[in-house]
Amino acid sequence: MARGRLSYLWQKLEEGWGKLRRFYLVHYREDYVQGQVRWRQGACRRCGSCCRIMFRCPHLITENQCSIYYCRYKQCKAFPIDDRDLKYLRHTCGFSFLRPKEARFTQRAS
Ligand code: SF4
Repeated sequence: MARGRLSYLWQKLEEGWGKLRRFYLVHYREDYVQGQVRWRQGACRRCGSCCRIMFRCPHLITENQCSIYYCRYKQCKAFPIDDRDLKYLRHTCGFSFLRPKEARFTQRAS
């Protein structure tokens, strides 16, 4: 029981850190964010899972509909920036990232 509560708290802490990290990256490390797009594959399924990281976003009006979608925050547009963002969403998010080995193979093949 205590262990489950601790892991829940740890997840929330990591999610909070992820929010800060993404905020920093989209505002101060645009080069990194743009570079990561190369390794990203897949597409958004509009599942809304990224709108519930740490807490439910107040702009979420229905199950997965954003009330400010067309002027949403930079960090929302850029999600997921890298593989760390998918730690808790690997099975729900439609995006994934090529690992360095796969990326090298893809580069050689193209
Ligand atoms: S978690 Fe991934 S698939 Fe779901 S809405 Fe966010 S970006 Fe799209």
